[in-house]
Amino acid sequence: MPKDRSELPPVEELLTAAVTGLGGVERPGQVKMAQAVGDAIESEEHLAVQAGTGTGKSLAYLVPAIRHAAESGDAVVVSTATIALQRQLVDRDLPRLADALESLLPHRPEFAILKGRRNYLCRHKMAAGMPEDEDDQLFDPREVSATGRMVQRIQDWANETETGDRDEIVPGVSDQAWRQFSVTARECLGAQRCPSGADCFAELARERAGEADVVVTNHALLAIDAMEDFAVLPEHDVVVVDEAHELVDRVTSVVTGELSESTVGLAVRRAGRLIEQGVADRLQEAGEDLRALLAVAPPGRVDTLPQSLGMTLALVRDAAFACITALGPRNKDKDDPENAGLRKAAFTALDEVHDTAQRMLDAFGPAAGGDGAGDDEDMDSAGSRDSASARDSASSGGANGGGTDARSEEVHRAEVVWLEEGRGRIPPTLRVAPLSVGGMLRDKLFGDRTVVLTSATLALGGTFDSLSRQWGLRAGEWTGLDVGSPFDHPRRGILYVATHLPQPGRDGLPEAYVDEIAELIEAAGGRTLGLFSSMRAAKAATEALRERLDVPLLCQGDDSTSQLVKQFAGDPATCLFGTLSLWQGVDVPGPSLTLVIIDRIPFPRPDDPLASARQRHVAATGGNGFMAVAATHAALLLAQGAGRLLRSMDDRGVVAVLDPRLATARYSGFLLNSLPPFWRTTDPAKVREALRRLTADA
Ligand code: SF4
Repeated sequence: MPKDRSELPPVEELLTAAVTGLGGVERPGQVKMAQAVGDAIESEEHLAVQAGTGTGKSLAYLVPAIRHAAESGDAVVVSTATIALQRQLVDRDLPRLADALESLLPHRPEFAILKGRRNYLCRHKMAAGMPEDEDDQLFDPREVSATGRMVQRIQDWANETETGDRDEIVPGVSDQAWRQFSVTARECLGAQRCPSGADCFAELARERAGEADVVVTNHALLAIDAMEDFAVLPEHDVVVVDEAHELVDRVTSVVTGELSESTVGLAVRRAGRLIEQGVADRLQEAGEDLRALLAVAPPGRVDTLPQSLGMTLALVRDAAFACITALGPRNKDKDDPENAGLRKAAFTALDEVHDTAQRMLDAFGPAAGGDGAGDDEDMDSAGSRDSASARDSASSGGANGGGTDARSEEVHRAEVVWLEEGRGRIPPTLRVAPLSVGGMLRDKLFGDRTVVLTSATLALGGTFDSLSRQWGLRAGEWTGLDVGSPFDHPRRGILYVATHLPQPGRDGLPEAYVDEIAELIEAAGGRTLGLFSSMRAAKAATEALRERLDVPLLCQGDDSTSQLVKQFAGDPATCLFGTLSLWQGVDVPGPSLTLVIIDRIPFPRPDDPLASARQRHVAATGGNGFMAVAATHAALLLAQGAGRLLRSMDDRGVVAVLDPRLATARYSGFLLNSLPPFWRTTDPAKVREALRRLTADA
């Protein structure tokens, strides 16, 4: 074991030891990636690495990361998008890697997992130091109800857990039940003031992370750490972002604000216990106005601020401010320890309401400010919400009279506001999000750290340009590397585009598509993963084909997704149909997955408020909005979907895309260049023959 940091073995030697220790074989792509990551860390230059499935990319970044931690004494942060990858790193890769590298490093590599505060049990809240919000008590924990049973399970688990980590609870519990036992970072009293601070699970996790060489976290916490004034993660100068194709979406979710009767109601309930009734009533009335307005407003993007909405947002904002003022000085808590938790919770909810209402008004420019100034148009007749006409006006370069103004507004617009329809107990909700998080990432994440971004899918249309733009990186500030894939795509897989089929329409799954799917599945003898662009299409195909085929057909939603994938993997004859989470979350090596069917190119829905606003903004600033937003989104998902086919060196099969536009549209080259280099055909007979052969060999 080297005593001195200068005696550390080079990355290549550590990687060989790691691969040998783990009983694997060294792969050229893995070696190349590990060297590149080591060089990037050394030269403090950002790096984007595309590494196909089977490369062994986690070892390729963990080995140089651990070496850097040993050399510098600082932690390296590894961020993932999914819990599955976090678990794989913490439960499997890192312990084995620590065993394999221990003798070559000055100390055994230590690692820890760190999540956002709301993921840990709050002992203070549990001890009833912070009474629950009335609305969260719609059920009685003693009642025999699903939520009541979950609450009981959490209480039982709380007596035994050593980590307080919500993900330990199997099966999982609902957000509603978990909220009774957790606080957000803003609601937390702070360990110094909290009576349970010494035993706080979130604090213990932070402490463990502070001593680790590698800290595994998620993109949301990474974003919060980069953007907030206070440090959430331990001191670090290197970040590895795995599943980096998800970074922009995850960061956007973190910075999306929301306002509804629920968020206002929560603030009223929390403040109502502490301030004069009349002041709280004013916020309640403003919340009721908001509820009445949103109940009749059409869902979708809000392009111009209707006067009624502007006035209501200003009312909500001002009433929340009056409550904040009535609560008194924020530092009053030390004289009032009894109510510290209640006051903190009230301030958090009120700040959220006040700041979000202000942010929504700001999204429409300074004129939208405080006096309800805005467009005269009624909110419930907001014709400007028609995304198609808005897109047309932006892309036509202002052919109509208002075009130039609209374009200049677009150029300067920084945030998008939209209304989401109510669902079940969730009321209609106004949301606000930035058009781009690139500037934010550039300043806050890439500013003073070395960042390595990796995924199996980063090069879209053959280059990293689309994603690097979304990350806010400029030419010369980063390098890109594609280490390829160990799979022999042209010999192991076929990409079939059904050019003889009609283009997909708006009215559900065409009959010809159902026939085509049936023929392909029959040829494959089941073994099919059907990836549909909507749940409606997945259900329609399942219903139609259950009648026609004699293979078992599962559909997402029939059971938990993990259970369905297990059933699908366990029986080769079984087919599984579904939508978004299956596009990225299925890892089934072997003959159970021989055919991947994709019904249509997965463009964002035309009424997707954020995507359509981003598209329009790019067009207004002189770019190609469709290629920068819609085609990029589709390319990423297509590559992820097609990536479900080959999961091990022995896998073979077919990716069948029913949407003929993949071969015929003007943008098809960009999409095709984003996919693995399968052998391509448009001949249905050839494909069915190949599937029959594969089935016979299996
Ligand atoms: S420090 Fe914060 S999270 Fe921890 S127990 Fe106290 S209030 Fe809860």
